[in-house]
Amino acid sequence: MSISLPFNAAITSSLFTPLSPGQEQDASPGFLAVVQGYSLVVCAGSQQELLPDTPLPTCIIPEAEPLLIGLWQGKPLRTVNITPDVILPAEYEALPFQGPDLRLDNALATIAGRAAQILHWERRSRFCSHCGSGLARIAGGWGKRCPACGEDHFPHIHPCVIVLVRRGTELLLIRNAAWNTGRFSLVAGFLDFGESLEECVQREVREEAGIEVTNIRYAGSQCWPFPSQQMVGFLADYAGGEVKPDGVEVAEAGWFREDALPVLPGSKRSIARWLFDVYGRSNVETLQERDEM
Ligand SMILES: [Zn+2]
Repeated sequence: MSISLPFNAAITSSLFTPLSPGQEQDASPGFLAVVQGYSLVVCAGSQQELLPDTPLPTCIIPEAEPLLIGLWQGKPLRTVNITPDVILPAEYEALPFQGPDLRLDNALATIAGRAAQILHWERRSRFCSHCGSGLARIAGGWGKRCPACGEDHFPHIHPCVIVLVRRGTELLLIRNAAWNTGRFSLVAGFLDFGESLEECVQREVREEAGIEVTNIRYAGSQCWPFPSQQMVGFLADYAGGEVKPDGVEVAEAGWFREDALPVLPGSKRSIARWLFDVYGRSNVETLQERDEM
């Protein structure tokens, strides 16, 4: 069963029906998901943030025609990207859907993520990567076809593993070299050619922390639209080796007692935080049983 995390479809299932290009029946008015970087434009001053209605306010200049992505509360929802230099009129504000700012509710953050992911694909699928010609849409989906060479192109969604590694009552945490001192998270990385997701877990833990893991099991997955990842969450147990960060990508790595963790990932919306919240505390009875064996 899919886990209920922001950016997964279940969060908006009662509010949103996805549609593909070409499914638009008419130009009836609806709502707009205006994306500015990783922020969503909402009507300001409302207790409950609201998506702007169409038509687009004339002071907001779109990069392109708004694109239909589905039905929001039964009305067409279109999305458009605006550049960071667009200054919004006072009746609108841009609220982030990435990072620690949680003013957007999870449903709107999820819609914003979906819109941003689609817009990212649209911007990067204008030309054929095989021959350089302009691409045309394949009817009924987000794929594109090259009229010149016939190559088909489908949305690029990149699989990444993320893993909570346990040794008794301790968890393996790493600090990415780009993060501030004191902030830690879980080992994670992109799937490589020729490996299963479990093999990717083994390799990433070995590369980033220098240890071996066993008993790798799937925990859940999350769409991560920054810009287009699929985070696949795993649990694993320590099997051997001494912690040794790679010193390049990972500045620090170490074992932390589960009841004395350092600063955890900034976004409460992330699967990293979910893994800590759900699996961060060991089952006391299980541990006692293990100790008695
Ligand atoms: Zn081509």
